[in-house]
Amino acid sequence: MSASNTPLATLPFLPFALPEIGEEEIAEVVDTLRSGWITTGPKARQFELNFTAFLLGDTVDDSLQSIAVNSATAGLHLALEALGIGPGDDVITTTHTFTATAEVVRYLGADVKLADIDPATLNIDPAAIEALITPRTKAIMPVHYAGLAVDMDAIYAIAKKHNLKVVEDAAHALPTTYKRQLIGTMQSDAVVFSFYANKTMTTGEGGMLVTRDPDLAARAKVMRLHGINRDAFDRFQAKVPSWYYEIVAPGFKYNLTDIAAALGLHQLKRVSGFQARREQIAARFDEGLADLPVILPPRPQHAGDLHSWHLYVIRLSDAATINRDQLIERLFADGIGVSVHYIPLHLHPYWQARYDLQPEQFPHSQKAYERMVTLPLYTKMTDDDVERVIQAVRKAFAS
Ligand SMILES: *Cc1c(COP(=O)(O)O)cnc(C)c1O
Repeated sequence: MSASNTPLATLPFLPFALPEIGEEEIAEVVDTLRSGWITTGPKARQFELNFTAFLLGDTVDDSLQSIAVNSATAGLHLALEALGIGPGDDVITTTHTFTATAEVVRYLGADVKLADIDPATLNIDPAAIEALITPRTKAIMPVHYAGLAVDMDAIYAIAKKHNLKVVEDAAHALPTTYKRQLIGTMQSDAVVFSFYANKTMTTGEGGMLVTRDPDLAARAKVMRLHGINRDAFDRFQAKVPSWYYEIVAPGFKYNLTDIAAALGLHQLKRVSGFQARREQIAARFDEGLADLPVILPPRPQHAGDLHSWHLYVIRLSDAATINRDQLIERLFADGIGVSVHYIPLHLHPYWQARYDLQPEQFPHSQKAYERMVTLPLYTKMTDDDVERVIQAVRKAFAS
């Protein structure tokens, strides 16, 4: 029976996102649980090595390091801390992101400068970055929104001109390429991926900090675990009495457990296959929605580049006769879970009040927000689920 012959409202609710966890992941977690070592240990280490190998592919580059952490938020915090960001410093990022990108700057007592987006890509607008630069500016944090690469050449040109650090929030961007180079392998000071439950691969909670800077890596590893100069597993494995350690800084508790890494080892093997399926669903959505009064998600700027398709975001065009909230209500009524990415930071009470922000400062983000809906797109969706979403969106515009 095809989905289109079934009354939409009688089908079970289609969640906005679901992880895809296989038997290999489950077996690896069980193996960890039986092993006697459940916190950070051999599996977290192996996951780091495999992650670097995934990013490098056939390239030989001994300088690239992956540091497993218990969230991308933690990884972003560690990266900025290691770069010495602190009170009196400004960090520039996009208003059109999740609060985690910006909150880590405040953890360090530094200030956030929010930039508007380019309406064509929904990514941070390089011209808006330039307008915010002052002598206080120390770093730029681009976010590869939805999994579409930021124009990194423009970011690096600005960073070079003003001597700024670059920390990529790559929470959406595995695997994404920019000019055929995987995000994670370019010349940024640090790149941080997320393995939160709804991301393109998951460890439940988790993240990866990737860097080529040996000093940044060393500092992040120490700060990841209380400021201890040796990690617990090193001490556990030592052949000499291993009770001694030194605290060299007031560190954090940001290490990834082996239980989580067990999931990551197998999710990583599947992440390219996941991307291919996501790409297929995105292409089908593009086809099925092409004639509606919507702006479809932007495609990569350069031919041959990969979009991770973490999110599939449509925007109502000027021709639409319903508004964003009506579209969401109608989709929910037909059993389709949708979301909005994001309520821009400038509209949230904390950020608005802290920096006295007005929507008029961010016209493109504001307009996109008012018109955007994120449709469900994940690998566990069947072809029928995909058709059902298309039919529900079409019906919402027809009624
Ligand atoms: C999910 C997300 C984060 C935070 O990731 P966690 O692993 O949950 O800490 C940061 N930035 C963006 C853009 C995200 O979508």
